[in-house]
Amino acid sequence: MPAPPLMSLEEARHRILSDVQPLRSESLPIGEALGRVLAADTTALLTLPPWDNSAMDGFAVRSEDVVTASTGTPVRLVVVGEVAAGHVPAVRAGPGAAVRILTGAMLPPGTDAVVPVEDTDAAPGLSGLPEQVGIHVAAAPGAHIRRAGSDIRQGELLLPAGTRIGPAAVAALVATGHVEVEVHRRPRVAIMATGDELRPLGEPLGPASIPDSNSESIAAQVLAAGAEPLRLGIAIDDTEAVRERIVEGILAADVLVATGGVSVGARDVVKEVFEEVGSLDLWRVAIQPGKPLAFGSAVRPDGGTCLLFGLPGNPVSSFVTFELFVRPVLRRLRGEPGTQGRPMVRGVLDAPVTKSEQRRAFIRVRLSEVPDETGRYHAALAGGQGSHVLSALAVANGLAIIREGLAGLPAGAEVEVIRLDVETA
Ligand code: AMP
Ligand code: MG
Repeated sequence: MPAPPLMSLEEARHRILSDVQPLRSESLPIGEALGRVLAADTTALLTLPPWDNSAMDGFAVRSEDVVTASTGTPVRLVVVGEVAAGHVPAVRAGPGAAVRILTGAMLPPGTDAVVPVEDTDAAPGLSGLPEQVGIHVAAAPGAHIRRAGSDIRQGELLLPAGTRIGPAAVAALVATGHVEVEVHRRPRVAIMATGDELRPLGEPLGPASIPDSNSESIAAQVLAAGAEPLRLGIAIDDTEAVRERIVEGILAADVLVATGGVSVGARDVVKEVFEEVGSLDLWRVAIQPGKPLAFGSAVRPDGGTCLLFGLPGNPVSSFVTFELFVRPVLRRLRGEPGTQGRPMVRGVLDAPVTKSEQRRAFIRVRLSEVPDETGRYHAALAGGQGSHVLSALAVANGLAIIREGLAGLPAGAEVEVIRLDVETA
C-alpha cells in the first residue's frame, strides 16, 4: 500500500487548534497567580497615585514665593512643619512658608510645587527640622509633584484579557487595589511512555533497558509551558497496559501525551487505543524530526474533552513535536494569544546541513549571544541531527528551519531560527 501523502505543519496545527478554547476561569489570590493568564479585561480599582504627592525629598512651597530664587539670591522661607509618606499633612502653608516633605507624602494645602533638598541650603538626610530654608531655584506650579491619577484612574483598563501575569503585572494589580484576579485554569497534562525497554527514573536498568527520558522531558516542557503534569508512568507494549493508563489519563486531564508506539511497528498499540476510546487521526507530517503524529480526542463522562497526542518515541522527535503541536494547545487552553509564543530570529549556519527534501527540517543549533552588525545570529550546529541525539538537543537553544523543497543548505546560508530559550508573553 502506498504511504498517504505528507501533511504540512500548518495544516496539522490548524486541525489540532481549530476546536481548542481557553479553559474556564477561576479567582486566585495574586500571590498564587504568577504565570497565569487574565481571563477578563482588568481595570484599576484605585486611582494611582491616590492624591497629589511629592516626587522628591525637599520642601513644598508656593511657587509664587520662589519666582526670583537663584543660588546667588536665595529666597528665605519659614519652615512651618514636615510631612512624611503615610501621614496626612497637619500644617497649611501661607505666604512665605515652606513645609519639609518626603517622597510620596501628600502635598500640604497651600503649596503647589516641590523644591528638591539639593536645590536648597538645608542639610539632606536625617537632620532636625530647620527654622528657615534658603531656596536656590524657582519652581513652576506642579514641579516635582506626581498628580493624583497621573498613572491610572479608577475604572480605567489596566491589563487586557490574555495578559500573562509577570512580576510587573503583580505590582500594578496590587497597587490598583486588587487582592484576587480572574485567571484561566491551568491545563492538566497526563504523560505516558510506552515501551518494554523503558525503566522509570532512578530504577536499575536491565540488560536491554534504557531510562524513560521522554516522561521527564515532557513533564519539564509541560511545567515550562505553565501547565500541570500528571504522571501515568510507563506502559509495556501491550494493548491492555496502554488502555488502562490512557483511560486513567482521560478522566484526570485536559490533554494526554503518549510517546512511542505511533509509527508502523508491529507493537505500536497507542493508535489502536486512541481509536477505541475516542477519535484518532494519524498523520504523516512533513517535518523532520517527528513525522508520525497521532491526534485525537475523547469525551469524558462529565462532558469534558481530553485531547490525545501520540508523539514519536525518539527523544528528539518527542521534544520537537511537543514544541510544535502540544505547546500551542497548552497556550490556547491557558488563554494566551498567538500560537508558537517564541520569537524567530535570523541566523547564519556555521556548517552545511543535509535533509529530506519532502520535509521541513528543524535543525538543533546554538545561537550566539548577540547578533552581528547585520542583525543575524551565528547558528552553530549543536551536534548530530539524528532524532535520537539528545546530547545535541541538550545544548541547543534554537531550531533552525529549512523548508520543504530543499535537500540541504551550505555553510553560511541564512536561516530562520525559533528561539527555544525565550518566550513571548
Ligand atoms: P518507538 O516510537 O516506540 O518506536 O520508539 C522509537 C525510539 O525511541 C526507540 O529507540 C525507543 O527506545 C525510543 N524511546 C521510546 N520511548 C522512549 C522514552 N520514553 N524515553 C526514551 N526513549 C524512548
Ligand atoms: Mg516503542
